Amino acid sequence: MRYLIISDVHANLTALETVLADAAEFDEIWCLGDLVGYGPNPNECVERIREFDHISLAGNHDWAALGRLDLSSFNADARTASMWTQTALSPEAREYLRSLPTHVEKDGFCMAHASPREPIWEYILDSNQAYANLEYFSASTCLVGHTHIPIVFEVDEQRRRCETRIPPFPDPLTLGSHRMIINPGSVGQPRDGDPRASYATLDSDTMTWEFHRVTYPVEITQERMRARGLPRRLVERLELGR
Ligand code: ZN
Repeated sequence: MRYLIISDVHANLTALETVLADAAEFDEIWCLGDLVGYGPNPNECVERIREFDHISLAGNHDWAALGRLDLSSFNADARTASMWTQTALSPEAREYLRSLPTHVEKDGFCMAHASPREPIWEYILDSNQAYANLEYFSASTCLVGHTHIPIVFEVDEQRRRCETRIPPFPDPLTLGSHRMIINPGSVGQPRDGDPRASYATLDSDTMTWEFHRVTYPVEITQERMRARGLPRRLVERLELGR
């Protein structure tokens, strides 16, 4: 099976469409949460992903859009965008988001939006945090999103620590020999200084993983955000990838 691995689409339909076209052939989508929040097209992103065989997880912004989270934990811009999303969501999109699990184990993979230890909240930003999360899943590989930064934490069993590896890599990554926590990066709001949409592909027959970046028309998303009155800082950060 060939999987398209995406996360943190954040209602950026233009980025999502570009990724779907770029990835070309896949059997199923695994979406690691935060399909909505920040961006201008929450309903369209929900509708689009539902056209495919897929697994989709709940992220903190999905919960916020449902009123399941106390928005005081968000900064002012995120709060404004979340309140707009709450009013913009269709009943169908709301019902879909409400149905999403916070974590899933499938075909030897663990998936959680934020971390296996705290599926909605924890940001896995360094190797110590990654290592501390190993006891919270039994699969060899765990896939997470949430930080919007593509990264691999690979376990070194002998030294009892994780090595951090940051793409791009010259060759596909082979999975299974060491335990790993992998983040495919964000489709709709990258934060590693590269504004291109980030995603990954996984081939479960060869157990290989590849990171991808693709340029999308950021200005279309920005124009739609302005038209909806979304915060200027959120509009501007898209072209910076920060
Ligand atoms: Zn996110």
